[in-house]
Amino acid sequence: MLDIAIDHGSYFDPVRRELVKGNIGIKNGQVVSINGKDGADCEIDLDATGAIVLPGFIDVHAHMRDLEQSYKETFASGTKAAVHGGVTTLVCMPNTRPAASRPSIVADYMARARVASYCNVGFYCGYPLDDRDLPVLKEQGVAGVKVYMERSLGGLDWADDAVLGTAVRHVVEAGLPLHVHPGIVHTKEADGLAYLQLLQDENLTPLQAYSRVHSDAMEADGIARFLGLTSAACGGEASCKPVVHICHVSSARAIQAIQGWRARFPGAVTAEATPHHMFLSCDDRFEKDAVAKVLQPLRPRSDAEAVFRAVLDGTVDMVASDHAPHTADEKLVPFLDAPSGFPVLDAYAPLVLTGMGKRGAPLDSIVRACCEAPAAKLGLGASKGIIKKGADADIVVARKVDPRVPRADEYQSQSRISPYEGAGVEVEWEVVHVVVNGDLQLENGLLVGQPANRLLSKGRVRAPPRAGGGSPRGGGKT
Ligand SMILES: [Zn+2]
Repeated sequence: MLDIAIDHGSYFDPVRRELVKGNIGIKNGQVVSINGKDGADCEIDLDATGAIVLPGFIDVHAHMRDLEQSYKETFASGTKAAVHGGVTTLVCMPNTRPAASRPSIVADYMARARVASYCNVGFYCGYPLDDRDLPVLKEQGVAGVKVYMERSLGGLDWADDAVLGTAVRHVVEAGLPLHVHPGIVHTKEADGLAYLQLLQDENLTPLQAYSRVHSDAMEADGIARFLGLTSAACGGEASCKPVVHICHVSSARAIQAIQGWRARFPGAVTAEATPHHMFLSCDDRFEKDAVAKVLQPLRPRSDAEAVFRAVLDGTVDMVASDHAPHTADEKLVPFLDAPSGFPVLDAYAPLVLTGMGKRGAPLDSIVRACCEAPAAKLGLGASKGIIKKGADADIVVARKVDPRVPRADEYQSQSRISPYEGAGVEVEWEVVHVVVNGDLQLENGLLVGQPANRLLSKGRVRAPPRAGGGSPRGGGKT
C-alpha cells in the first residue's frame, strides 16, 4: 500500500523535459511509482486534477533568524513559510545574532532547526575568527562559508586584500564552497551622506538613490576582486577547484563579470538570482519604498530584464529567495533607517511560476533554475530536485488561478510586509499540496504537517522508514 498517491495531475518528466500525465506513488519517503494506475491502494489520495506536479523548490539562500532574533523569524515560522510557498529544502545564512561563524553557535543553531523544521534545512557558516574552526564547521555539515564583502560578520577587514585573500585560501583548502555577497566595504555614515546627496542633486526616489549608493559597479568590481583573490589562492593550479557562488546577482554589469570569469575558469563559479531582482525594479512605484529596500538593491528595469535573461540562458544558474524577514515596526520607518530585506518564501513558487512564465520561460527552465541546479549545487542531485523512481518524495503540486496579489497578512512568516503587495504584483499560480520526504505538509493550501529533524547537515539524509504506525499525514512520528 502506498503512503501517498498524487493522482490525475501532470508531472514534470526530467527526461522528456515537459509535463506528462501520470500518477505519483510515494512510500517510505520516496517516489516508488510513476504512471501507476488510478485507485492504487494508498493511505492518502491527493487530487491533482488540472494541476502541475513539480519537484519541490530548493532555495539555496534564506534567512531563518531565530537565536536572539526569534522575534523576526524562527525555524518553525520560516520553514512553514517555505512549505506554504512550495519550497521543500532551504539553506540558511549565518548573519544571525550571534553570527553562526563559530562551531558552538552553529551547533546551537542546528539544534533549534532539528526540532522545529517543516522542510529540509541546510546551513552556511560565516568565516570563523579562528581558522582552526574551519574543519570543525565542515565536520558539523555546513554547506559552505558565506562572505559579506560589505561588512565581515566577525569584524575582519575585508577591504584588505591580504586579509580576504588569506580567508579565501583557508576556505578553499578546507574544501568548502564559498558563497559571496559581492561589494565593497561601506560605512553606514558614508552611505547616508551619499544617499542624501543623490536625493537632493538628482531628484531620485529613495530606491533609485539606494541603487546608486550600492552601485552595479561595486557589485561587479566585488565579483572581479573576489574571483581574482580565489584564483591567486589557488596559485593558478589546475587541480585546485574552488567553488565560488555569487549571491543575488542584480545587474547587467555583474552578469558580465561572471561571464568573464566563466570563460577563464569553466565550472568554478555558480550564481543565483532572486525573484525581486528579476521582477521588481527601483523604477517601480511601491506603497512604501522602505519595504522594498534590499541588498543588492532593486535596480533599473533594464537590469532586471538582464537578470531574467541570464537565468533563462543559464548564465545565472539558479533562483533563490533571499527570504529576509524583519518586523513591520522595523521596516515601516524612514528609508535610511530601515533594514534591508523582506519575506519572500510564502509566495515563492507562485511568484516564480508567474513571473518567469509570463516573461516566456518554459517550465523546463523554471525546474532547472529552481529545483535541479540548486540540488546539484548542494550535492543532492541524485535524490532531490527531480521526480523519478527512487528519488526523495519532495513534491509541490501547483494550480493556475485567477490573478491575485499575494497578501502578506496571509503569510506563515512572522514578517508580514511585502514589496509585491505594495507594488500590486499579481500571481497566477497557487501551491495546493506539498510533500516533504514523503510527509504531507500542505494539503489544499493548508499546513497539515509536523516539525521534525529534517537537517541536511551531513550531506544527504534520508528519513528513516516509517515504522510502528506513523502516518504520512502530519509528518510521521512526532
Ligand atoms: Zn541574504
